[in-house]
Amino acid sequence: MVPVIALVGRPNVGKSTLFNRLTRTRDALVADFPGLTRDRKYGRAEIKGHEYIVIDTGGIDGTEDGVESFMAEQSLQAIEEADIVLFLVDARAGAMPADHAIAKHLRSRQKATFLVANKIDGIDADIAISDFYGLGLGEIHSIAASHGRGVSSLIETVLDPIFQFKDEQQNNFVNDESFNELPESYDDLVLDDTQSLINQPIKVAIVGRPNVGKSTLTNRILGEERVVVYDMPGTTRDSIYIPMTRDEREYVLIDTAGVRKRGKVTETVEKFSVIKTLQAIEDANVVILVIDAREGVSDQDLSLLGFIINSGRSLVIAVNKWDGLSQDIKEQVKTTLDDRLDFIDFARVHFISALHGSGVGNLFDSIQEAYDCATRRVNTALLTKIMQMAQDDHQPPLVCGRRVKLKYAHAGGYNPPIVVIHGNQVEDLPDSYKRYLMNYFRRSLKIMGSPIRIQFKEGS
Ligand code: GDP
Ligand code: GDP
Repeated sequence: MVPVIALVGRPNVGKSTLFNRLTRTRDALVADFPGLTRDRKYGRAEIKGHEYIVIDTGGIDGTEDGVESFMAEQSLQAIEEADIVLFLVDARAGAMPADHAIAKHLRSRQKATFLVANKIDGIDADIAISDFYGLGLGEIHSIAASHGRGVSSLIETVLDPIFQFKDEQQNNFVNDESFNELPESYDDLVLDDTQSLINQPIKVAIVGRPNVGKSTLTNRILGEERVVVYDMPGTTRDSIYIPMTRDEREYVLIDTAGVRKRGKVTETVEKFSVIKTLQAIEDANVVILVIDAREGVSDQDLSLLGFIINSGRSLVIAVNKWDGLSQDIKEQVKTTLDDRLDFIDFARVHFISALHGSGVGNLFDSIQEAYDCATRRVNTALLTKIMQMAQDDHQPPLVCGRRVKLKYAHAGGYNPPIVVIHGNQVEDLPDSYKRYLMNYFRRSLKIMGSPIRIQFKEGS
């Protein structure tokens, strides 16, 4: 499971600043579900190739009396959802009554909690933080969120029990510099990796806003007689993993909605959980984003979409409740979808009725295609040839009077496929040329259903 870190603390201690710094590593993206989550913001972040989710809780109002008012409900909720809590205090302001109230609440929860003194830039940190030992939370980690000081090492410290960064540094051959000098042998080295990916069941997450028809779709896919077997109450945090076989391929459905007995109605808002959804996306190979044809594409759908795209997972879009719509309405819905989904060119869109079953079987063709494209092994020679063709068709621009030169390309990972391009001044390439290369690779490799990433490495 992808770990979840919640940022809590009084208003103005620097939670949003830290949130932005952590999540912007790859285009800050925020899944914001107004109404469902109040002010909680969810973002994904990465450290040393490992993903985690950050929740920002906005502010805890410290102006009134009592623990409950200090801990606005959304903060309490975020603490429950998280594996790790970073409790931020303002090193310049010293320990305030609200800090004590928050500390008391955190001590009563059995959560991994780290006390973080922010804004230590330009002050004597040792003196400033001594005030906070009285909060009774042990060691104090000092950072300056707005400058980035101490931030990476803080995150490494809090996530080390989960990711074991220290062991990894010794074992991970990808981090070995000499690796890059041997492009030809790269494919031999990654072969085992892809082979093992291909032989595993395809993990498919079914996600979407409340009421779009996720449970109905899951039930439909599984066939109703199996529903009862898996009718177990999902906890608020954990999705249910359901193994299944179809046309001799093995799948694991990640059910974020909670399969229910027919007729048994659960309150939608309660069963929907953003964290569950985001974790399911991170853990999946292919994500089915379910959209309600009758509601169109909402801002919430777009935030989810943003999250999926940034996660690099393969994507199939299912526009559900396509039954009983007039031809006129269908045309209208299609036009609006085209407008709003214009920016994703790689995902197949299916019009289905989970209720009646139409179109559901075809989803699997796209799931399989997306997975196969995302995990297909491509060798260095072919990637370099495609790169060369792209370069011949359209020369890279001059940067500071010198022409950028692409030298060779090799695979850097799968699901999503990563193409690593080595050359001179490649890091200075304008975004427009990077996009051109990405589209060129996508078309040449016929990658459908999966995003593709290009990384640039200076030199050879
Ligand atoms: P939040 O209400 O806890 O989310 O706090 P914000 O992130 O909005 O920050 C409140 C104020 O503190 C803003 O003016 C930030 O620019 C400032 N701030 C945040 N981090 C730092 C820091 O590391 N050093 C300094 N000097 N100011 C900071
Ligand atoms: P979830 O919250 O995303 O799991 O949504 P549900 O599966 O619980 O469905 C919400 C409502 O939409 C229920 O009343 C379903 O019967 C209805 N529904 C689901 N799929 C369809 C469909 O394809 N067509 C129609 N007309 N209604 C559907």
